[in-house]
Amino acid sequence: VTLNRDAVGQRSETVRRANLSAIVRELHLHGPLSRSNLVTRTGLTRSAIRALIGEFVGAGIVSEERSAPLGAPGRPSPVVRPDPESSMVVALEISVDSLAVALVGFGGKVLELERVDRPRAHLSVDDIVADLADRARPLLKRVPATGALLGVGVAVVGVVRRTDGFVRMAPNLGWKDVPLGDVLRRALGLRVPISLANEADLGALAEHRRGAAAGVDDVLYISGEVGVGGGLIVGGRPLTGAAGYGGEVGHIPINHDGAACRCGSVGCWETEVGEMALLRRAGHAQSGGREGVEAVLRDAAGGWDAALGALDEVGRWLGIGLAGLVNVFNPQLVVLGGLFQRIHPFVARTIELELDRLALPVSRSLVRVVPSALAADAPLIGAAEMAFEAFLADPAIWLRDREALAVVQSA
Ligand SMILES: [Zn+2]
Repeated sequence: VTLNRDAVGQRSETVRRANLSAIVRELHLHGPLSRSNLVTRTGLTRSAIRALIGEFVGAGIVSEERSAPLGAPGRPSPVVRPDPESSMVVALEISVDSLAVALVGFGGKVLELERVDRPRAHLSVDDIVADLADRARPLLKRVPATGALLGVGVAVVGVVRRTDGFVRMAPNLGWKDVPLGDVLRRALGLRVPISLANEADLGALAEHRRGAAAGVDDVLYISGEVGVGGGLIVGGRPLTGAAGYGGEVGHIPINHDGAACRCGSVGCWETEVGEMALLRRAGHAQSGGREGVEAVLRDAAGGWDAALGALDEVGRWLGIGLAGLVNVFNPQLVVLGGLFQRIHPFVARTIELELDRLALPVSRSLVRVVPSALAADAPLIGAAEMAFEAFLADPAIWLRDREALAVVQSA
């Protein structure tokens, strides 16, 4: 059977490319692996692995080294190590309170990361793009001129059309119908692909690949700030909807007696669990922003009733909304990101009680609610993962065109 599988692999270019993809994915997600570990993980034969790794070594993407024997009999299996400097992506993030840029290497190594606070005032697209481009340029200088830059991934706090990075709406930035993909492409002067997506969708991707939801295939990621975003992983794949607008859980109508929402509706989930709801309930100005939230968390840690009561009420509404989502999606894991990651210790118990009370017992019994592992950097890491995707899906193209790419990139 093994010989047969190997023979098919050598005959078919399609199979060869799929096998290259399987190996590159394992190395990207898990870091250095022994050849025998790769055999186990991919189901490929030893000889197939040896040949395919040879292609990667030839292209300078991975290196191989003898591992020290661990007292086990037989020859030690060589360790295959992804070279983060060989293939890189640039990740950018535009969020409510900050801008961030990162350079991430093959294998997920974060080579550089810079995050700067920005004022919440609505800034023009040109101002924000110019600021981002200025911060991205030093990172681009670090990329060797050998076709090593695979692409740019961008996380935006808004509703984004995936095909062309067109931002349909970003209420917290004051943006509507912005061709952000084109504007960024011009500002950066790059020929590599630029992909854009909503930051909660990318937070979900990052937690699924490298965070609290690693190895879990049905995941609901909920991220709170001023607005509330959501990202869903269903059967191991991101749920984007027809154009990439899916997952806007913050605008599920939840309280018909509730407050007016920025989207024009009334009583959306984010009017009960977003930052402004927390501040309002704790007796702070709704516009208190990050400092206001910090004050509430300090008061709660000090045992103040107003802060604890406000957090409890937010936890209750979080649980009510999650009960509905758990019934619809039957996730194994709910990951709380952003604001919800920070308030998790204060709301965890209330959320569990509401899930017990309201969710279908069969789905409720399968789901756990945990805080994000990547915290504030989840969307940025997700943007990097999105930019790696074309390479991971078909590394053969990148092996073949490496020199051609270098020329294109410097053009
Ligand atoms: Zn709304």
